[in-house]
Amino acid sequence: SNTSSNRKDPKSVLPNVKNIIAVVSGKGGVGKSTVSANLALALAQNGAKVGLMDADIYGPSVPIMFGVRGERPKMTEVNGKAMIVPMEKYGIKFMSIGLLVNEKDAIVWRGPMASSAIRQFVTDVLWEDLDYLVIDMPPGTGDIHLTLVQTVPVTGAIVVTTPQDIALADAKKAVAMFGQAQIKVPIIGLVENMAYFTPAELPNNKYYIFGKDGGKRLADEFDMNFLGQIPIVQSIREGGDNGKPVMATDEAITKKAFEEFTAAAV
Ligand code: ADP
Repeated sequence: SNTSSNRKDPKSVLPNVKNIIAVVSGKGGVGKSTVSANLALALAQNGAKVGLMDADIYGPSVPIMFGVRGERPKMTEVNGKAMIVPMEKYGIKFMSIGLLVNEKDAIVWRGPMASSAIRQFVTDVLWEDLDYLVIDMPPGTGDIHLTLVQTVPVTGAIVVTTPQDIALADAKKAVAMFGQAQIKVPIIGLVENMAYFTPAELPNNKYYIFGKDGGKRLADEFDMNFLGQIPIVQSIREGGDNGKPVMATDEAITKKAFEEFTAAAV
């Protein structure tokens, strides 16, 4: 659904982007970037114009996931202002803070520096018309998240967690932050990643390696939509490492989990 009416000041920032979806997690390593990239690709495969912005300054993954590490984006000038031209691959536009700054520099940025860099990064990319902009946020909760949601008219947030207790505890903090009154970003729902593993030779078995249904329980507890489960699949990991996310491949069974999650989210 198009929820652009929730936007605070539609004219000021990214006026030609209809929906801005922030993908958040409490903890790193739960698959936030994997979910962001595959969500963006699934939306594009449904016919939408989609952009993916990797704002995870502490661990930008898009350069590797899209096989463009070490490349530099092109610049252009619009009304006298220098703008970054997003890259394009697999039917989406994307940009990563990892393509603009030295990763070692970004990692030591303090809160205010990180916040202003991200704000500038959002406003200086020439996205043009988009139905969806998916923002891969840094993990955790803090100043950067506050700045971003205050600067960018975010339509809603998707929370990614694994079913593991420690990930769920951190996911709760993210939910609490986005639920608080000053922020007013609606939570679209929660997706449970790495929910279970099914070996090829035992196709009817599910092994709950990180615990069973933890994400589902958390969604129930906070009255959030549960957007589904993504299993642990080797090709998801390989797609991330090889520059071609699984949604850009023909792995029908694995793609189905992301397609169902995407349909539940929009
Ligand atoms: P985050 O953005 O939360 O730090 P990533 O998306 O970078 O996490 O995922 C961490 C690692 O786990 C990556 O190597 C990624 O390919 C892998 N991964 C993520 N989700 C899955 C999954 N469902 N199955 C297999 N590997 C996964």
